[in-house]
Amino acid sequence: MKISRYLKNSLFGILIWSLFSAFLYDQLKVIPILKYLIIAGNWLYETTLYYLTYRIPIWWVIVFLFLVWFLNQADKYKSPPLSKPPNDKPKFLEYTQDKFKNWIWKWNWEWNSTLKAYQYVNLKAYCGNCNVELLEAGSFNRAKAYCPKCNTFYDAYVHEYEYHPGAMALLNAELEKRYPEEFRK
Ligand SMILES: [Zn+2]
Repeated sequence: MKISRYLKNSLFGILIWSLFSAFLYDQLKVIPILKYLIIAGNWLYETTLYYLTYRIPIWWVIVFLFLVWFLNQADKYKSPPLSKPPNDKPKFLEYTQDKFKNWIWKWNWEWNSTLKAYQYVNLKAYCGNCNVELLEAGSFNRAKAYCPKCNTFYDAYVHEYEYHPGAMALLNAELEKRYPEEFRK
């Protein structure tokens, strides 16, 4: 008897479960997909709104705006691109040595992008007899030039022989005389 009662209860249970699951299935089936879309859309909207209206200290905004402004200013004052030497080379670039007094002077030409002009550099003295670069052979307070080949001791041009203002003045005058239109001091 016990077994039949148990069986009866079980059958009843199965029946209830079947009915319930069928009901649940029907319920799930009728829930429209649109509803899920609305839920998803709402979630997206809420999340977006949350981040857009997120409270941040106003000084963050000020600092950020200042940084943007500062970087913009810094960009404006960036060093301008280096100017290139003109394509047509001036004639004075070939003039790289001369004899002033009994000294030979030699130099190179270099494009100065700041001044946008050629400048002579490495103005050096050479022996007037053998065209050898002179060496410095001076005492502590009075530099002299010395030729290692002919052993001639040149008295100092005035006090220094390299880049000497006297030689530079003579060279400038010579440049103006030779290239009056091209050379700019
Ligand atoms: Zn010499």
